[in-house]
Amino acid sequence: MTVVVVGGGIVGLASGYYLAKRGEDVVVCEKGTVGSGSTERSAGGIRAQFSTPVNVDLSVESMNVWDRFETDFGVDIGHRKVGYLFLAREEATADEFREAVAMQNDRGVPSELLTPSEAADHCPALHAEEFCAATYSPTDGFADPYLALQGYATAAREAGVDVRTKTPVTAIHRESGAEGRVTGVDADGDHIEATHVVDAAGAWARDVAELADIDLPIAPRRRQALVVDPETPVPEDGPLTIDLDTGSYFRPEREGAAIVGGHFDDTDPDEDPDGYSTSIDLAWAATALERAADCAGYFGPDSRIRRGWAGLYAVTPDHHPIIEETAPGFVTAAGFSGHGFQHAPATGQLVAELVCDGRASLVDVDSLTSDRFADDSGPVERNVA
Ligand SMILES: Cc1cc2nc3c(=O)[nH]c(=O)nc-3n(C[C@H](O)[C@H](O)[C@H](O)COP(=O)(O)OP(=O)(O)OC[C@H]3O[C@@H](n4cnc5c(N)ncnc54)[C@H](O)[C@@H]3O)c2cc1C
Repeated sequence: MTVVVVGGGIVGLASGYYLAKRGEDVVVCEKGTVGSGSTERSAGGIRAQFSTPVNVDLSVESMNVWDRFETDFGVDIGHRKVGYLFLAREEATADEFREAVAMQNDRGVPSELLTPSEAADHCPALHAEEFCAATYSPTDGFADPYLALQGYATAAREAGVDVRTKTPVTAIHRESGAEGRVTGVDADGDHIEATHVVDAAGAWARDVAELADIDLPIAPRRRQALVVDPETPVPEDGPLTIDLDTGSYFRPEREGAAIVGGHFDDTDPDEDPDGYSTSIDLAWAATALERAADCAGYFGPDSRIRRGWAGLYAVTPDHHPIIEETAPGFVTAAGFSGHGFQHAPATGQLVAELVCDGRASLVDVDSLTSDRFADDSGPVERNVA
């Protein structure tokens, strides 16, 4: 019998690949083209500097795969380990940094707490006087999301996965009752019988769950990014730098250019994932550049915006994904809140374990079940940009 994965982004294709490697018959249904959701709009960041143990564990297991991706999948994904530099302006944030680094170190992550002047050793143009503490980890970095997606897509097809594009899932069938088991889906006019349906629909995950009469608190929220030619080139081996108290971040692109991003608005409305604007707002772009300039001297007044784009985060109330068998045969892998690219390798393996073994073991994901929202009992991720 078949496992149907809804969504041909990086999470759906990684899930399809690992399911097929476990011997499952898999169909991935993607309503557009592979990667046409959030994956091709990602900045590609990969890091272990999270504030909660479960997010660090998802990173550690995913980084094991990213580190071997070229060898195992035969694709150079442009993985550049330039490190991530987190910066604190407030003492309260610095206190949280101390706690987070101790927890990360306990889990084998080589992060360290730095003074602002030590941080400037990694980011020479840093306005160090603006900050009171920093953290840095040399194994963090970024890769090309499109190449990584293609790597998983090719490997999934080679492993026997039937990847169907332009194939929207329009109905999910279950036996009657709240605990009714999934029996199949309707996709682009076909009925596919299935033992399991995996909801890997990113910012559409709530809509897909609704097809199975399941309510998931996953909100589509718009995020923007710019490619900038800074007045002073950003060194290619410089870290992805996050000014956590303003929410601004930048990272080197090629030849001195930088990607600049962040969310600066107090409001964060839900978007229609089929109808939001994918181009940048000029006021946001001006603020993003100003905030980057407040952080580091690269972004003087002669900096030039080359282009930009907007995409969607799939956000949960505590900025952690939901990874669970939500109802018999209905597996959820969504709500990554801006971290779904980097956590896809671990997630794909966890989905395969949930389907094949009935339980996850690679990472302890007990805290990632959706019932945590009933009493706000889940961990809250603070290292979010
Ligand atoms: C500006 C920006 C920067 C980001 N930077 C980073 C970063 O640095 N690092 C990081 O880890 N993450 C980052 N992210 C987040 C990352 O892009 C996402 O978490 C990740 O791509 C989620 O992958 P996914 O496979 O879950 O979702 P998606 O890639 O959105 O895939 C879901 C797919 O489901 C399909 N679908 C929806 N409904 C249906 C249906 N009914 N039937 C069939 N198919 C359906 C959609 O068409 C879509 O292709 C960023 C996001 C944005 C917008």
